[in-house]
Amino acid sequence: MFDTLSDRLTSVLQNLRGKGRLSDADIDATAREIRIALLEADVALPVVRAFIAGVKDRAKGAEVSGALNPAQQVIKIVNEELVGILGGETRRLEHAKNPPTVILLAGLQGSGKTTLSGKLAKWLSGQGHTPMLVACDLQRPNAVTQLQVVGERAGVPVFAPEPGNGTGDPVDVARRSLDEAKRAQHDVVIVDTAGRLGVDEEMMRQAADIRDAVSPDEIMFVVDAMIGQDAVSTAEAFRDGVGFSGVVLTKLDGDARGGAALSVRHVTGQPIMFASNGEKLEDFDVFHPDRMASRILG
Ligand code: GDP
Repeated sequence: MFDTLSDRLTSVLQNLRGKGRLSDADIDATAREIRIALLEADVALPVVRAFIAGVKDRAKGAEVSGALNPAQQVIKIVNEELVGILGGETRRLEHAKNPPTVILLAGLQGSGKTTLSGKLAKWLSGQGHTPMLVACDLQRPNAVTQLQVVGERAGVPVFAPEPGNGTGDPVDVARRSLDEAKRAQHDVVIVDTAGRLGVDEEMMRQAADIRDAVSPDEIMFVVDAMIGQDAVSTAEAFRDGVGFSGVVLTKLDGDARGGAALSVRHVTGQPIMFASNGEKLEDFDVFHPDRMASRILG
């Protein structure tokens, strides 16, 4: 997904190599090219501004250090600023002191929530946890069945309304799932909610009602990196409508430019926690800002 951005940044920084000294004009020219590369990759404007300002300030004020030549110093600064924009430290999942840990997934329809439920469950099972999935998307025909298929593939149980009661109340299902988790000793509950194709008040209200019913330890906003600039406005709408403690980027295997998704952390102030890069249950990992920055800078 970040190949073009990566190529552009690598070539901008490559141009600095071999220069014995960098003037302010060199730094300004480099900053300008980085700015264009970021904008072309769909990185949101406020994020580009913050990034460029950080790089310029630090590059101009940098002491010439013995170990690094000027080009290497700028590369180091660009890398550190990128890690900063992506969130700095890796943000780990917070588990509840008194299980079950409740994770609520929210996001637009098609963002990858149901698939993510299975991925998270499988990943948690691999760490010795005993997760259970909860079907609270009762709007879309087949959503419950789809979660059941995902649960089966991941080898974890799914709590869903009884057959024939497919139009049940998702808030009630969510509430009852906690009793079931305690009874059957599941230490993590992953609640899949209904999304719509676009931001919609009814969807937000329902997600907020489910949130109030289960007091989640984590609310994850799931966003398809392929939706481009809409990723930022959708994130803002979910932040205001439901609130979230972390972000999951999906479809990073796609060929869109992806910069908007990378902007979500800076714009909303909430960390990117996981990344999904394929349809298989294994195509999933914890998001490490430093590794992503290294990948982008080649
Ligand atoms: P939901 O509506 O939010 O529950 O989204 P789904 O989990 O049903 O996913 C929508 C579509 O995206 C499905 O066809 C998934 O197989 C696909 N999908 C989910 N995550 C990824 C991903 O990381 N990469 C790719 N290529 N496809 C994905």
